[in-house]
Amino acid sequence: MDSGLKNRVAIVAASSQGIGRATAEAFAAEGCRVAMCARNVQTLQSAADEIRKRYNIEVLAVPLDVTDPVAVHDFVAAVVAKFGSADICVTNAGGPPAKAFLSTTLEDWKKAVDANFLSAVYFAREVIPHMQRKRWGRIITITSITTKQPVTDLVLSNAVRAAVVGLVKSLANEFGKDGILVNNVGPGYTATDRLKELAKSCSAASGKSEEEIFASWSADAPLKRLGDPREIANAIVWLASERASYITGQTILVDGGMYKGL
Ligand code: NAD
Repeated sequence: MDSGLKNRVAIVAASSQGIGRATAEAFAAEGCRVAMCARNVQTLQSAADEIRKRYNIEVLAVPLDVTDPVAVHDFVAAVVAKFGSADICVTNAGGPPAKAFLSTTLEDWKKAVDANFLSAVYFAREVIPHMQRKRWGRIITITSITTKQPVTDLVLSNAVRAAVVGLVKSLANEFGKDGILVNNVGPGYTATDRLKELAKSCSAASGKSEEEIFASWSADAPLKRLGDPREIANAIVWLASERASYITGQTILVDGGMYKGL
């Protein structure tokens, strides 16, 4: 299947590891020029170097914090200066800590809103004018299964991710006329460092071992296993591709069937 993505410019936020990194790599495999960012310079540069070498494509890697609107502005400007456009933008950030409601602080809420909602706003407002010029664009937000089904003790994610879905639907409505498709991808339990952190805190809270926690997550999905970050990345690339040209405003879960609703 030809994705039609060769030479497109793909920005992937928070992409030094985990789902973001797998997504940057999946776009590289389609022949895109890729722009990556994350806070840690060393991890980011080594991820970018590996992708450059393996796929023989151009990669721009800029260390930044996605909660800094000025840094996001400068990053998108640098992408357009280097590659001439910003065709695809995948928003992403680290997830909020696992906490029950009464354990959360106001600082936790502000951080979750900054990282997991406002960062998507910052990227969208920078890339949309460039996409409008080309009358083609794809914005894909990475959120969580919590957009459809709240997870116990992930109240920060359960609440803040819902705002992203509202943003996605609004942008899809407003910019469809410009050829810009906006969708949201919600991973289920996926084998990354983030999940190891979650397992640790669930283990501390429940007294169960981390192995038991991982086993219960796998058992909860009809596919009886965790997701691989590449499986989330494949769905994102497909949504960005010409093969998904009539899909916008949607939340697609990539969760091995874990979501229990219809
Ligand atoms: P991860 O912790 O493995 O990787 C997160 C990446 O984001 C890293 O590259 C990190 O450097 C970068 N990052 C974090 N905060 C940043 C910031 N402020 N600015 C710039 N870069 C930043 O996480 P992951 O598992 O790949 O998850 C990605 C997203 O998907 C998170 O929001 C997470 O909550 C969500 N999610 C993950 C799972 C899962 O099971 N792994 C499930 C549902 C949702």
